[in-house]
Amino acid sequence: FTVGFTGADLENLTNEAALLAARKNRKAITMEDIEEATLKVAVGPEKRSHVITEKERRLTAYHESGHAIVTYYCPDQDKVHQVSIVPRGWAGGFTLALPEKDISYQTKKWMEEEIAVLLGGRVAEALVLDDISTGASNDIERATELARKMVTQYGMSDKLGLMALSTVSNPYLDGSTMMNCADSTSSAADEEIHKLLMDCYEDAKRLLTEHRALLDEIAMYLLTKETITGDEFMTYVNAENK
Ligand code: ZN
Repeated sequence: FTVGFTGADLENLTNEAALLAARKNRKAITMEDIEEATLKVAVGPEKRSHVITEKERRLTAYHESGHAIVTYYCPDQDKVHQVSIVPRGWAGGFTLALPEKDISYQTKKWMEEEIAVLLGGRVAEALVLDDISTGASNDIERATELARKMVTQYGMSDKLGLMALSTVSNPYLDGSTMMNCADSTSSAADEEIHKLLMDCYEDAKRLLTEHRALLDEIAMYLLTKETITGDEFMTYVNAENK
């Protein structure tokens, strides 16, 4: 599971951070409160009582390391801030990336990278454990949704070109979309979405194959310590590049 930072979460987040600070009898909000609040809002509270098997832990460790390493090696992505295999909400673990600056629009390259990052968890499972799990289902759903938007709303498919094939039926409700093109165009769009996903999957696979030793190291670290900070993560990345 990957967590980004969206502006819409900010208000909710500040309230949550203030609550956490108050609970610890502190008058001011610290960076730590903000981090914990981010995760609580985006993924849910820690679930330490949740019983997990060793096999599941290993799977999660590789899955999250996959997200983190693809994030790092995609130049337009945010910085890896924290990776953890402590279960939270409905997620077995998470990779948190935080932006260094505010960006109000997203480019095609950024979106392709984002899809590769989302699929990075599944790729790591397949590469290392020779098996795949349902743990990646939310990632795959989000990757597919983004790929669909790129093709049908943002006119980013080379083959179908600059044409909005779907419209958002009611932006104030659930934001669900309606296809407004011929059935044949609609199936061509499905093919383009699939191709886009597969291309990004291959990108993630190439990165993780290339950095397989790093993948093992980060996963091992997570299995022993459960959580890795961005700085600790960078120590491994820098050691690899020496
Ligand atoms: Zn994931």
